Amino acid sequence: FSAIGEEREIDQNEFTPGIEPQATWCPGCGDFGVLKALKGAMAELGKNPDEVLLVTGIGCSGKLSSYFNSYGYHSIHGRSLPVARAAKLANPDLEVVAAGGDGDGYGIGGNHFMHTARENHDMTYIVFNNEIFGLTKGQTSPTSPKGHKSKTQPHGSAKDPVRPLSMSLSAGASYVARTAAVNPNQAKEIIKEAVEHDGFAHIDFLTQCPTWNKDARQYVPYTDIQQDDEFDFDVTDRREAADAMYDAESRLYEGEVLTGRFYRDDRPSYSQEKQSTGEMPETPLAERYFDDDYEWER
Ligand code: SF4
Repeated sequence: FSAIGEEREIDQNEFTPGIEPQATWCPGCGDFGVLKALKGAMAELGKNPDEVLLVTGIGCSGKLSSYFNSYGYHSIHGRSLPVARAAKLANPDLEVVAAGGDGDGYGIGGNHFMHTARENHDMTYIVFNNEIFGLTKGQTSPTSPKGHKSKTQPHGSAKDPVRPLSMSLSAGASYVARTAAVNPNQAKEIIKEAVEHDGFAHIDFLTQCPTWNKDARQYVPYTDIQQDDEFDFDVTDRREAADAMYDAESRLYEGEVLTGRFYRDDRPSYSQEKQSTGEMPETPLAERYFDDDYEWER
């Protein structure tokens, strides 16, 4: 690793540790697409591996922090966001990325998702959405379609799935996008935008699970809404974005995959708000902690 902030050309292989994802991810899993896009995005943004913290939840997606060479924290189920928030507040220089599955983020950690979005903490949150719990052998998850049969719902799910984009917008995320593992170039560009965004950037990342969700779509063909005249709307307009999201979420379960940027606003992040009121000291906690001469207020 080089010094933090040092500008140099980064090769994406620097984000490859000694362990290979084939160790635990099945052939054809969409998780490979997330890993590839994330490595490419960080390299193109010129990030050093030691400038990045990747916090993951539990699930097949949680292994992402083992296969990505940066600071990493494999946290507990549904709790990647509180860990990521604390790390970002303690050390604002870190580029913080949190990641987990749809069960982890929209179910078990749904409360953290809502409030991290509302408070607009500056980080990127990638949710691997494969419409089931993969690691634990394919149980119904919050994004499983109504009628989906699994060991936990053998007669078919009686529940409507959550609408992750709409949920994110109404909670207060300041950047909301959807991409798919089968479209690595778009995914990389969206991750780059999310990382550069000052505030909570949520990416609903469609990741096929060929092992346990065999009947599910592979998310092809897909449409990039920014490339299709049918979807001419203003991503900075909350109402227009809400309509576009609702449409995309409904059509997903009808077999049509709409991806792209859905919403963006540039309101100050949580840290920016706190710094503007003087509530957050200029010297980050991470620096004060290791400064023997720092005089703590009691
Ligand atoms: Fe991927 Fe599904 Fe295999 Fe997990 S079980 S690694 S989500 S294909």
